[in-house]
Amino acid sequence: MRVLVLGSGGREHALARALHRDPAVTALHCAPGNPGTAEIADNHQLDPADPAAVTGLAARLRAELVVIGPEAPLVAGVGDALRAAGVPCFGPDREAARIEGSKAFAKEIMAAAGVPTADARVCASRAEAEEALDAFGPPYVVKDDGLAAGKGVVVTEDRDAALAHAEACERVVIEEFLDGPEVSLFALCDGRHAVPLLPAQDFKRALDGDAGPNTGGMGAYTPLPWAPEGLVDEVMSTVVQPTLDELRRRETPYVGTLYAGLALTSRGVRVVEFNARFGDPETQVVLDRLATPVATLLQACAIGGLDPDLRPEWRPGAAVTVVVAAENYPASPVKGDAITGLAEADAVDGAYVLHAGTSLDFDSGRLVASGGRVLSVVGTGADLAAARAAAYEAVGKIALRGSHHRTDIARTAAEGVQ
Ligand code: AMP
Repeated sequence: MRVLVLGSGGREHALARALHRDPAVTALHCAPGNPGTAEIADNHQLDPADPAAVTGLAARLRAELVVIGPEAPLVAGVGDALRAAGVPCFGPDREAARIEGSKAFAKEIMAAAGVPTADARVCASRAEAEEALDAFGPPYVVKDDGLAAGKGVVVTEDRDAALAHAEACERVVIEEFLDGPEVSLFALCDGRHAVPLLPAQDFKRALDGDAGPNTGGMGAYTPLPWAPEGLVDEVMSTVVQPTLDELRRRETPYVGTLYAGLALTSRGVRVVEFNARFGDPETQVVLDRLATPVATLLQACAIGGLDPDLRPEWRPGAAVTVVVAAENYPASPVKGDAITGLAEADAVDGAYVLHAGTSLDFDSGRLVASGGRVLSVVGTGADLAAARAAAYEAVGKIALRGSHHRTDIARTAAEGVQ
């Protein structure tokens, strides 16, 4: 199978790595990819959100599967263009991807499908926002009704800060606060049926103890020893399947990863948000554990032949990923500094390094930081404690001036408490 992966982050390096392991994959390409994917795939320099450029490349490569990593190509209609050109594509059409792009649309689908989520109001004026804030009370949850890569959400006890965020956005969704631990569950969908992957947990705040600003994600782990038994089946039947059915009813069948961000509240499971793609960095740990060949699975989704009773096989043990971020991430990450120690990190037993915001400096040929989240260091082991030990030992080998990472990824879970 000839496969093309779109995107350039840690998630795409993890996808490429998992595809590379699948014996069915005879040719692996990434666009644009990164220096990590270059080691296992052919990188092609193009804008992954340019539908004409992507369909042109897919045709030239005679791709039998295109896997869309990030959200931007989905919103730009790359999925629509590929399907129109007859190329099997793992990733939803633009209309179905609105489940991520528009919080209001997601709420509408959930209401129609009877999916449990936070009560919410869509507000387009200061007066409406004030009324909603006071109706729900603190902590206040204010979400920009647009694509903000997980960064357009403010959760605060401070009413003025909540109102300021609401005013900075054209349209906001203000909603009830959901307490309880969060779980990310990816379901692979073929428009009609879905197959769940392992649940994972990610760490969105920049600093230890969930302090600091929201980020794209600073680390993740799987499995979740504290998750209630039957959680995955419950989410498949109360969240994923009804959502797929509703989208199909609207003639926008959903093909790709439906990412359910869930809160396990005292009143039961609630959807915090949907994303229309794999999560980064949860993908890094979930795909690490996947034993079932991934290309065949994703292609079955793309061509509409997923076996709904299939349950992927998982390697035993655990995986933890720690993101190494550039100085000043997320505010204004410093780029251009050299990264060293990757070979030493890769040599740590049970650990390996996935590239995210890295590039090769044109003049010196050195590996340099070129994005906010620079590396995603994965540790594996018999249990979470061993996996985290491997990940942090490997992180300790890496040098990047001014870089920072969280030191508490999977700590409480490894200690046996949530
Ligand atoms: P979202 O972009 O909707 O995933 O929100 C980003 C993060 O904000 C989530 O992962 C949660 O940590 C937090 N969040 C969003 N909505 C809520 C809510 N209703 N209650 C509590 N926290 C929330």
